[in-house]
Amino acid sequence: MTNLFVELSTPITGPYQQPTGLFINNEFVPGVDGKTFEVINPSTEEVITSVHEATEKDVDIAVAAARKAFEGPWRKLPPSQRAVLLNKLADLAEAKSELLASVEALDNGKAYKMALGDVGAVIATLRYYAGWADKIEGRTIDVKSEMFHYSRREPIGVCGQIIPWNFPLLMLAWKIGPALATGNTVVLKTAEQTPLSALVFATLVKEAGFPPGVLNIISGFGPIAGAALSRHMDVDKIAFTGSTFVGRAIMKAAAESNLKKVTLELGGKSPNIVFNDADIEQAISWVNFGIYFNHGQCCCAGSRIYVQEEIYDKFVAAFKRRAEQNKVGDPFHPETFQGPQVSKVQYDRIMGYIESGKADGATVVTGGERHGDKGYFIQPTIFADVKQDMKIMQEEIFGPVCAIAKFKTVEDAIKLGNDTFYGLAASVHTKDLSTALKVSNALKAGTVWVNCHNLLFPQASFGGFKASGIGRELGEAALDNYTELKTVHVNLDARIE
Ligand code: NAP
Ligand code: MG
Repeated sequence: MTNLFVELSTPITGPYQQPTGLFINNEFVPGVDGKTFEVINPSTEEVITSVHEATEKDVDIAVAAARKAFEGPWRKLPPSQRAVLLNKLADLAEAKSELLASVEALDNGKAYKMALGDVGAVIATLRYYAGWADKIEGRTIDVKSEMFHYSRREPIGVCGQIIPWNFPLLMLAWKIGPALATGNTVVLKTAEQTPLSALVFATLVKEAGFPPGVLNIISGFGPIAGAALSRHMDVDKIAFTGSTFVGRAIMKAAAESNLKKVTLELGGKSPNIVFNDADIEQAISWVNFGIYFNHGQCCCAGSRIYVQEEIYDKFVAAFKRRAEQNKVGDPFHPETFQGPQVSKVQYDRIMGYIESGKADGATVVTGGERHGDKGYFIQPTIFADVKQDMKIMQEEIFGPVCAIAKFKTVEDAIKLGNDTFYGLAASVHTKDLSTALKVSNALKAGTVWVNCHNLLFPQASFGGFKASGIGRELGEAALDNYTELKTVHVNLDARIE
């Protein structure tokens, strides 16, 4: 049996103790079935360690722990104390930033400096939601003088949360921040590809002083642990980030079990629209960041790039030079911008899309091949002259691959931008204010960036139109997804005849 802690090492921190158990009731425990699975370093394709796997029985144990905490100490704690605990957790994460970011870089493959940025965003998110904990208010409703009516916002209960591998710590913070601030308890399943950073984070949960069972973190597989959480009869809400395919399965499981509340943050095929009058150097830098940040593994990646015809050739030539400057390699090298894709499965999927782009006759401007011969590295790839109906223009690739096409008018740009099943994000690059606002208002997307891309803040909500999801994360809007609205009608002296 794998130990509950193993000594691992990162180039930044040196040796450290990596928890490997399931974090339930503030303790690391092995799974009931005694199963473990291997965690791979995507830069080297080597095994880092093994972690304990949660199966259905462990999900039951974790849900029971979360239920007990919800009905007991957590529900009784004054909201201001929830704020104190969340702030403490943020402080501890800040003190452990280097360790958290190194483990993230080791397990996920993202550049250490990017991982450090993610940890900064984790801390900011926890602090933002700590601020909300004692500001959850209801209303009084004036209907008639013999009655008194009021509403309250109450926590939903036990929340199941299923997160992906592209931002393991940040997705955890986006999920637990609003859930805990509003007084829910949580069972969170990490992605099988990236369980390690959340387990290090779990040690801080106990240290911060959260009561046992408030936040449980389990490693495991989607079709086993994830499915058990989604169909669990004692889970009141399920929140998921990942593929549209699994999002549908989760909604179905919720519908077929106890009709638990569902929020989904799914994929995208976000347009990045560049007008003739844009500041071209700035636009190229944002477009480059929009698609290649996090190796293209962003739900809001600007993967469809539409450029107005007058500047198209100049844009494509300059963007090629810019993309070729992105340093691809070892996540721990200080100059690295792009590390490996997260797994062999993702690597193969992306290479499959690259082959389909080539076979469909799109022009490879740069990239299109593996980078190096070890690790799941892919060259930053640009396809130009891409037709609207090609697979690489329609489907989410989730890798460092973008598709460029030309457009003529503002109306064409809006039409092309909206020609997708998704509606997560979009961006517009122009110096003309009326073009910027007209296009922003016409795009069917939950987030629109003007003269930038991929900027997210805890204060501002994020989520999808159309098949990109249900509900919103971040900002005040996320609080609605974690509270039930109750109305109380009090009879003062109205008489029934
Ligand atoms: P995925 O399968 O949707 O994984 C996301 C999470 O859902 C993981 O924790 C996964 O568990 C879990 N899961 C899988 N099947 C489940 C089920 N039947 N019931 C409950 N939970 C389940 O995504 P993926 O396979 O890793 O990636 C495939 C594609 O999804 C990507 O190429 C990309 O297009 C999209 N994606 C989108 C996002 C996003 O931010 N919106 C993030 C990741 C991926 P496991 O640990 O077993 O995988
Ligand atoms: Mg890994």
